[in-house]
Amino acid sequence: MTTVSERWVAKLRLADLPDHELTGQRVFVRVDFNVPVDETGSVEADARIRRSLPTLQRLREAGARSVLLSHLGRPGGRADPALSLKHVGERVSELLGSDVRFVEGVVGPQVVEAVEALEPGGFVLLENTRFHPGEKENDPELCRAWADLADLYVSDAFGSAHRAHASTVGLAEAVREAGGLAVAGALMDEEIRFLHEALDDPDRPFVAILGGAKISGKIDAVESFLPRVDRLLVGGAMANTFFRALGLETGASLVEEDRIEMARDVLERGGERIVLPVDCVVADAIESGVECRVVERSEIGPGDSVGDIGPATRRLFGEIIRDARTVVWNGPLGVFEIDEFAEGTMEVARHVAETSDEGTVTIVGGGDSAAAVDESGMADRIDHISTGGGAALELLSGASLPGIEALSDAEAARS
Ligand code: ADP
Ligand code: MG
Repeated sequence: MTTVSERWVAKLRLADLPDHELTGQRVFVRVDFNVPVDETGSVEADARIRRSLPTLQRLREAGARSVLLSHLGRPGGRADPALSLKHVGERVSELLGSDVRFVEGVVGPQVVEAVEALEPGGFVLLENTRFHPGEKENDPELCRAWADLADLYVSDAFGSAHRAHASTVGLAEAVREAGGLAVAGALMDEEIRFLHEALDDPDRPFVAILGGAKISGKIDAVESFLPRVDRLLVGGAMANTFFRALGLETGASLVEEDRIEMARDVLERGGERIVLPVDCVVADAIESGVECRVVERSEIGPGDSVGDIGPATRRLFGEIIRDARTVVWNGPLGVFEIDEFAEGTMEVARHVAETSDEGTVTIVGGGDSAAAVDESGMADRIDHISTGGGAALELLSGASLPGIEALSDAEAARS
């Protein structure tokens, strides 16, 4: 059995290819432009776009003809003007300082024409891949249609690498079948190397912080963290499901009823390593302007909704975080989008930044978590902010990501 890190080392990277292998080539690049947008599709935060720039600059300098693919949100296989990548394309053009031609389609004659018209060093951005039902179905026909236009595939969307979709897996395979290479881009390489280096043999104490809205999406991560971490701090709505496993009242809070049993089992096996909130911020409703109260976790009333961890919990988590040598954080500890419930997440962000300043390896993953850390003003002090939440958790849990498995082996490419 090879480990995930060994399998990763064996994969081919864009950095392994000399410029002359890229010059004039039609390169399909799966980027992660899944950024926050407003109702009109205007970009609200461009961190993910900025992170893609090293790969795009390399391709431009080498004179590749680059075709960019990304999904945005969940349009459900149909065109949805609010989720168009048009404005994203404008932002990419600005940041890159190169004209990026936006094509209003995912496949079809317009795309063929645009790819054929590409000059060396030029860029085309296709419309939101999830406007096409074949994206999520990993439709072979869609993959072939793209692969017919591609000489090389570059995977730079770490945040989507845990999904076997057409643009993340099927296209990579189709390009390879046609005799081309499928390689990891600079961001993908950075993400995975960082996560492995920090976590294969973490400095201890190793502390994981898990929050967010759902336990179901993260339970595998909880399972895999359990034997590896010294402490697992649980906050967010996830904590409510754990409260129920303890037999506590959670009132009107978000709880995943069908995961209570699972939470009970995790608590039994995790013992003292699992640290739940001791107090909470509750209100009649999770909305802006409501009156909030701090209660002990055993005093949540039938009409209460938990919106944040309480001050005693922030102190408790803070002490554990400051004693840690490695910290991994995924999922906000409260509904940080609403001021009344943001302080738990903000205070934990400050603790993570402080421990980071003292030399602890600190990693934050997840779209909402990254946004929360940005808002806290602590982002610069964190070692690594991963663009992927689910992907990072799956990687940490020892799973191999389909989007990585689909890439060319370095060995095979040389022979
Ligand atoms: P990430 O994107 O970082 O992986 P998630 O998507 O899992 O994080 O979770 C983020 C969401 O969790 C946020 O929108 C936040 O409002 C929500 N959340 C956190 N705590 C609670 C809570 N107590 N009740 C309801 N939602 C919560
Ligand atoms: Mg999220």
